[in-house]
Amino acid sequence: MQHRLVWFRDDLRVNDNAALSAALDCQSDVVISAIFLTADLDWKDFHYGRNRLYYTEQLLRSLSVQLAALGINLEVVRLDSYRAQVAWVADYCESRSVTDLYLNQEYQWNERIRDHQILERLPDVAVHTYVDRVLLQPGTVLTGDNRYYSVFSPFKRRWLSIYQERATRPFDVDGRSRESVKPNTWDPICNRPDSDLSLFPKTEADAHASLDEFVAKRLKDYEMNRNNPSVLGTSRLSGALARGLLSPRQCVRAAEHALNLPIWEFPNHAFSWINELIWRDFYQHLLVGFPKLSKNKAFRSETECLRWRNDPSDIDAWKKGRTGIPIVDAGMRELVATGWMHNRVRMVVAQFLTKNLLCDWRIGETHFMEYLVDSDLGSNNGGWQWSASTGTDAAPYFRVFNPVSQGETHDPNADYVTQFIPELASVPVKRRHSPWTATLPDRYPAPIVDLKSSRQRAIDAFKELKS
Ligand SMILES: Cc1cc2nc3c(=O)[nH]c(=O)nc-3n(C[C@H](O)[C@H](O)[C@H](O)COP(=O)(O)OP(=O)(O)OC[C@H]3O[C@@H](n4cnc5c(N)ncnc54)[C@H](O)[C@@H]3O)c2cc1C
Repeated sequence: MQHRLVWFRDDLRVNDNAALSAALDCQSDVVISAIFLTADLDWKDFHYGRNRLYYTEQLLRSLSVQLAALGINLEVVRLDSYRAQVAWVADYCESRSVTDLYLNQEYQWNERIRDHQILERLPDVAVHTYVDRVLLQPGTVLTGDNRYYSVFSPFKRRWLSIYQERATRPFDVDGRSRESVKPNTWDPICNRPDSDLSLFPKTEADAHASLDEFVAKRLKDYEMNRNNPSVLGTSRLSGALARGLLSPRQCVRAAEHALNLPIWEFPNHAFSWINELIWRDFYQHLLVGFPKLSKNKAFRSETECLRWRNDPSDIDAWKKGRTGIPIVDAGMRELVATGWMHNRVRMVVAQFLTKNLLCDWRIGETHFMEYLVDSDLGSNNGGWQWSASTGTDAAPYFRVFNPVSQGETHDPNADYVTQFIPELASVPVKRRHSPWTATLPDRYPAPIVDLKSSRQRAIDAFKELKS
């Protein structure tokens, strides 16, 4: 008798799950089991934080109930490392006579090595791998001379031309009825988060409700509102997408359905949302094309010689949201309070750390990994290296964001900074992005750096690299 094993990773959903959908495509006498394996010590080394783990735990609970209704038992097993995962899966397949293993591809270096080792360890098991995390498979969007793109605009043009021909549709769940089983229990992989995670959908149904609401009500104004952190202008679905509660195919499908158009015919205001999903693909493709990105290395090797200051008290003030620069402090406090931060503010705090404070981008990347619910090596590394001017298609080093004008432009009524820094409420609205120009409230610090001279210091440090 066939025994099919589905190995869940960051794809914690039943609907439109390529690997699960393929495993379910069979007669009801085939045994189907499912596993989710932790790698506690490796994950600690990769700085997976409690928010991510707790959110994963919540999604696993709801997944196990959905799978049980399909007659599939989900086993959640605590292991130390990817090496231990390989050994455990090999033993499991042997002892339970697994004939077929189903998994969705992951693109970080360590995960790819692990999956390669699995193939080697299981010569007698048919291992079926699927493209699920991205819209187009890494390796299919290449330059004329078959290289990975390192610049986004040409990548996007090529991506779109390929996508028009190969658009994938969401996968169905096989409707054949199966006898349900009792959902499994396990010791939680994390008992409590560091932040209040109420912002994030916990079930597939919640995630679809949020997606449908976004495309019906906010997609049309996305272009106008996406940079303003004080309004709900974006989808806030990054946690669901990162942990695989939603697929990018489902996002595209929902948007196409709302506009009744294929994405290549979208008007600009709506296409700019799809553009972000293409950025997401871009960063996954880069992980495959440039493995050094998974290994703590700068994309631009010459920037490894940059003389970072890495002043511990500056880093501490940045992490605690006490730099005295309101938009930076609001973002850092939002991160710790909610496990999320608005994209515009992520760019501002990242540039402030790497340019004004001249601290190594890896310090910020690690801190984000420790707190973000949506933490993802590809997008996080991409965002940090873009901001630090060390990465692919990065911000030019001499274009340093001014956090005061960023705040005044994108949070004009200072609602966002006041939400996370209530002590600024006593400062006149017009001065809230530069409270040192008014009377500073007792509990709020003066700026820890002078914005003008620290900007010049960063530019000089980058210039020094050239010489
Ligand atoms: C320094 C820095 C670190 C970041 N770290 C992460 C991270 O660890 N995980 C993560 O998912 N995103 C990361 N981003 C990208 C982005 O900030 C978040 O994806 C975004 O804030 C999510 O909000 P949303 O769901 O409302 O996005 P929307 O604007 O609604 O966009 C839809 C989806 O597109 C994707 N997306 C949006 N913007 C980007 C982007 N710039 N790069 C890649 N994908 C994008 C996300 O999956 C998002 O859910 C980072 C950006 C920066 C500047």
